Amino acid sequence: MNQLTPQHTHALITGGAGFIGRHLTGHLLSLGQPVEVIDDLSTGGIHNIEPYKDHPGFSYTIADMRKEALLAEMVDRAKVIYHLAAAVGVRLIVENPVRTIETNIGCTETLLRLANKKGKKVILASTSEVYGKNSHVPFVEDHDLVLGSTSKGRWSYACSKAIDEFLALAYCRDRGLPVVVARLFNTVGPGQTGRYGMVLPSFVRQALSGQPITVYGDGTQSRCFSAVDEVVRCLSALAETPEAVGKVVNVGSTKEVKILELAELVKKMTGSSSPIKMVPYEQAYKDGFEDMHRRVPSVDRLRDLVGFVPQMGIEQVVESVIRYYRER
Ligand code: UDP
Repeated sequence: MNQLTPQHTHALITGGAGFIGRHLTGHLLSLGQPVEVIDDLSTGGIHNIEPYKDHPGFSYTIADMRKEALLAEMVDRAKVIYHLAAAVGVRLIVENPVRTIETNIGCTETLLRLANKKGKKVILASTSEVYGKNSHVPFVEDHDLVLGSTSKGRWSYACSKAIDEFLALAYCRDRGLPVVVARLFNTVGPGQTGRYGMVLPSFVRQALSGQPITVYGDGTQSRCFSAVDEVVRCLSALAETPEAVGKVVNVGSTKEVKILELAELVKKMTGSSSPIKMVPYEQAYKDGFEDMHRRVPSVDRLRDLVGFVPQMGIEQVVESVIRYYRER
């Protein structure tokens, strides 16, 4: 931990050493808002903290956030809490089901309870995964969630995050805790690891190292990718918008890209000679994995609340990720 004095701390970011936490930290510091981070480095990395280590407005603690006394002190110092700490990434979720559920529900419950005691605003990072098997795009925040069977482990992530949302909204309605639930769609950009299955960094790494670019299924499934810089601007704008309290808000881009097209784009932009390899789902994932075919957000609520939505083109985002991996 560096030498930041407690009274200077305004934003607490749980999971701040992760990919989105890194960019949110940079954004808040650039706005002149001091930041304190707690992270257990289970999926995040110290390299995400490195750029800010000597910044006078930054402090961090590497610890399990279930250490309540420690977390209580941090919550006490914060003006707003961005709760990003979670087990994420399809591969991690499918391979570590107990950890996913325990982390995602346990940590959120502890945080909300402490924030409620001190009356601190919480921005809960949720996920478009909660829409589950819903096939009616665009996804509107108040529409039904269609979650899969409990015998298929991959749904534990969606269900655990849905419970987090219920809990956060219950604290808001029942106890008056100011909460905003941000449902993040596929967020990409420099610094994201492909280790836990995320598609863009995986493709870029494969293309740059000459390995086959692995497209799961038939590649016609699509995603809307948003640039992390734009996503963190949305998060901080939501935190500053009183009308967002008590609401669930989709945060994402509406520009849809098929996964096979993404593979072709990455191959072209890297100039790679890697072959594009189609991998059946049964080989790609264990545990009866079910993929979502389309996932497109309705962004009307986000636009109404904060006045802008992520709109960076996929080429620009892919370019930034290629540059990041080339520089490493
Ligand atoms: N995907 C793929 N190859 C990979 C990793 C992922 O084809 O090496 C596919 C995956 O099956 C899904 C899409 O890319 O259809 C996005 O996957 P990711 O894990 O990035 O995000 P999510 O499924 O959570 O949207």
